[in-house]
Amino acid sequence: MNIAVLGTGYVGLVTAAGLSEFGHTVVGADKVAAKIEAIRQGRVPIYEPGLDALLESNVRKGTLSFSPDLAASVRAADVIFVCVGTPQGDDGSADMSQIEEVSRLIAENLNGYKVVVEKSTVPVKTSVRIKRTISLYNKTGAEFDVASNPEFLREGAAVSDFLEPDRIIVGVESDRARDLLVRIYERFKDRVLVTNIATAELIKHASNSFLSMKISYINLMANLCEQTEADVEQVAKGMGFDPRIGPRFLRAGIGFGGSCFPKDIRALIKIGDDLGVDMSLLKETERINQGRIRVFLDKLKTALWILKDKRIGVLGLAFKPETDDVRAAPSIRIIQALLDEGAAVRLHDPKAAENMKEFFPEDGVRTVYCDSPYKAAEGANAVLVCTEWKEYADLDLGRLRGLMANPILVDGRNVFDPAAVAARGFEYFSIGRR
Ligand code: NAD
Repeated sequence: MNIAVLGTGYVGLVTAAGLSEFGHTVVGADKVAAKIEAIRQGRVPIYEPGLDALLESNVRKGTLSFSPDLAASVRAADVIFVCVGTPQGDDGSADMSQIEEVSRLIAENLNGYKVVVEKSTVPVKTSVRIKRTISLYNKTGAEFDVASNPEFLREGAAVSDFLEPDRIIVGVESDRARDLLVRIYERFKDRVLVTNIATAELIKHASNSFLSMKISYINLMANLCEQTEADVEQVAKGMGFDPRIGPRFLRAGIGFGGSCFPKDIRALIKIGDDLGVDMSLLKETERINQGRIRVFLDKLKTALWILKDKRIGVLGLAFKPETDDVRAAPSIRIIQALLDEGAAVRLHDPKAAENMKEFFPEDGVRTVYCDSPYKAAEGANAVLVCTEWKEYADLDLGRLRGLMANPILVDGRNVFDPAAVAARGFEYFSIGRR
């Protein structure tokens, strides 16, 4: 099967590499020519474990290529996977301009029957818009189908998620499109759920918002724990034994971030509001999440009172471990608040520092990037943990303490064992436990 993947970001690159690994001939195309050129030269523009090797082996096999020529890529394809961005728009809804742009491009290059697959996360009923747009600009009258195949990969584990998915959702409205998509995912036929298109579209938003809700729920419990003798880690563990609840996504902390959960929950709220459906459950989920930064900074202020002219080490910039992605990372709001209050920050992340420099350029005085967590701690009045990278859990706490001006550790991800940190002489603040 000849497949074109439009958009070679986090999802598109993994999709292109994964589909070629399944035996299809795939071209990945992007409108940013420099990105395609970098990929062609073996410089993968994102950090994702295992992606470099998967790309390289499929390019070498000759089943995977990359092109800046979107039109030619569309013309050569039987199936087109749309993986462009759907960022948050001004009113909370998803900004669909990239989807509209590729829909027009596909229409103008429709030289025979093709299936256009929404892989990007889109509002329910987007397929109707895509169909209308393609029909509007389709000069040849060639037939096409639109289908939905939402992507569930997690950044940091994207390659294994794509190669070993827990489910594949295929939303279609014709047998022809269904047969093609089921063939593409032949090897996973026991895990394919075929639905109508609106259902497939909604499954993605419903899943992300449900996971967001779990996170906000445990964070609400963390607030209660902090006012009682309860320990949120134990509460989550005890809840997680129940198979109806499960242990995952019950980590209390500074809230969810990233390029998906915050924007997807807002988009779903907007969809419901527009349709007259009461979305207050998700509005509370979002409100609780927004409040996490204040809860965290209040702990720092309990320790230091005034932040002006204080030096704060920040460990972890990415929105979660094993990625370089800082889009909507909680650390952004935290660093901004520190700078606004007159503090100086010393920032460290194993992979995401370069991306963060776009938000907070290095000035060598108030904003300093450090190549090790120990450097970030040098002379610090407090160190904050914003991302639970494994290397932070393995830090030599005695060494860290020796470098700091005040031994204050504010841990937004419950990386450390309170007793172990206290034994090293730290004043330790964490989430939902004493
Ligand atoms: P991204 O910003 O990393 O990638 C989008 C790519 O599309 C960019 O390379 C951009 O240059 C390209 N692009 C934009 N307009 C284009 C056009 N007109 N023609 C061709 N290329 C174009 O975004 P992402 O993180 O890969 O997310 C893509 C979609 O997948 C979003 O809808 C997102 O919500 C969804 N999604 C993301 C994840 C994730 O973990 N990142 C997981 C599941 C679903």
